[in-house]
This record gives sequence, structure tokens and C-alpha cells, in this order.
Amino acid sequence: MTTIGNNLQQVRTRLDAACTAAGRDAGSVSLLAVSKTFGPEAVREAALAGQRCFGENYVQEAVEKMALVAAMQLPHALEWHCIGPLQSNKTRLVATHFDWVHTVDRLKIAERLSDQRPDGLPPLQVCIQVNVDGGATKAGVAPDEAVALARAVARLPRLALRGVMSIPDAVEGFDAQCAVHARAHAVWVAVRDALAEDGVGGVDTLSLGMTADLDAAVRAGSTMVRVGSGIFGGRHYPAA
Ligand SMILES: *Cc1c(COP(=O)(O)O)cnc(C)c1O
Repeated sequence: MTTIGNNLQQVRTRLDAACTAAGRDAGSVSLLAVSKTFGPEAVREAALAGQRCFGENYVQEAVEKMALVAAMQLPHALEWHCIGPLQSNKTRLVATHFDWVHTVDRLKIAERLSDQRPDGLPPLQVCIQVNVDGGATKAGVAPDEAVALARAVARLPRLALRGVMSIPDAVEGFDAQCAVHARAHAVWVAVRDALAEDGVGGVDTLSLGMTADLDAAVRAGSTMVRVGSGIFGGRHYPAA
């Protein structure tokens, strides 16, 4: 098996162990493979090892990669998740090419995504990004504004609200990680319950946890972990 295939198997084993340790069913947390900075060949290797969902941060890079991967005629369709910051001038590309967006943190961006989602495609699946630990400069809506934004997003015709996403700053230690992740979980529960009151179902996703902290994220109730370096290895960013 390839290195990426081996890594994927190890991450899946770790994920199952984290579920068991948390008293949750194995398979109750889905795995998003974060392929940013890695080329189409790496995506292909992961796909051939059974991976279906891929996360990308940089829209232009992602769209070019998607075209190259599509030409490879893989045995199953891939699902692409945008997990990077969203700028207004990129929303049309995102609405056209991605299946999911995890980083909606203001209504204006959500409205553009809904307006620009092509008619022939299913609704764009979206999560509200919540800033549970950072200052005013960090991406994500404040926890106490998440429900209002989620309600407004859920009314947009070409979007389907799926839940909440968060990227807490790295902290050392399982207990400290659990504590910050618990705040994201609380926001997700508040959003899910508020939308259920409105009669909106399908809010089933808490996108939380990366290579370093996925065990704590699973303990805190994550339903989708986003793993990059644990699958593809260390990233090398080109010099700016
Ligand atoms: C890069 C990135 C990841 C993956 O991080 P790793 O530490 O490599 O697992 C997950 N989520 C987001 C939003 C990212 O930007």
C-alpha cells in the first residue's frame, strides 16, 4: 500500500479508537482529508484507498486540482469541501465547484453563495464558522451571534445549513483541548435546537478537530474531523 494509504488506515484506526474511548459508535465521525498544497496525485492515492471527501483552503488551487482529478476517472465520485476563508470575489467559484462550505461567518457571503449556486446542482451544504477562543481579528462569528446567523442562512434557497465548524487555536493536552472544543459543541447544540424549533432539520454536523486534536474533538462531540498532515504528511508552502 502507498504511504498515503497507510496513513489513512492509521487515521481511521485512531478515529475508531477515539470513538470507542468516548463511548461513541465507530463510524459515527466522518473523515475529511485536507489535501491543500498537495497535488492531484495525492488525492488520487487517497481516493484509491477509499477516501471520498476532500477539504481545500485555497479556491484557485482547489479548482485547478478538481479538473485534474476529474480527468483521472477515479472509481467513485469525490465530494469537495471548502474550509478556507471566503472572500466576496471568490464566492462564484466556490458556489460552482464545491459541494460544501464550512467557513460561512457572515450573511453577505452566504447570500452571494446562494445567489451564485448553479440551478442544476443540489443546494450547497454549509456550516457556520464559530470563533470560540480568539480575538476580534480571528475568522468566525462570535458564539452568541451563531444562532441568528444560522437562522438567516437556513432561509436562503440554494443553501442547506448542516451545522457548525470551528478552528480553535492549538493548545497542549487532552483536557485543555476538550475544554475549548466543548464550547464549539455547545454552540452547535444551540444552533441545532433553535433550527429544530423553526422546523429546520438536517443540522447534523459539527466540523471540529484536526490531526493534532482529533481525539479531544471526538470526545467533545465532533461529527467530522478535518485531517491534513496525518494523511498527506507535512506541508510546504511556497515562499510568498
Ligand atoms: C489545514 C487545515 C486542516 C488540517 O490540518 P492538519 O493539522 O494538517 O490536520 C484542518 N482544518 C482547516 C480549516 C485547515 O485549514
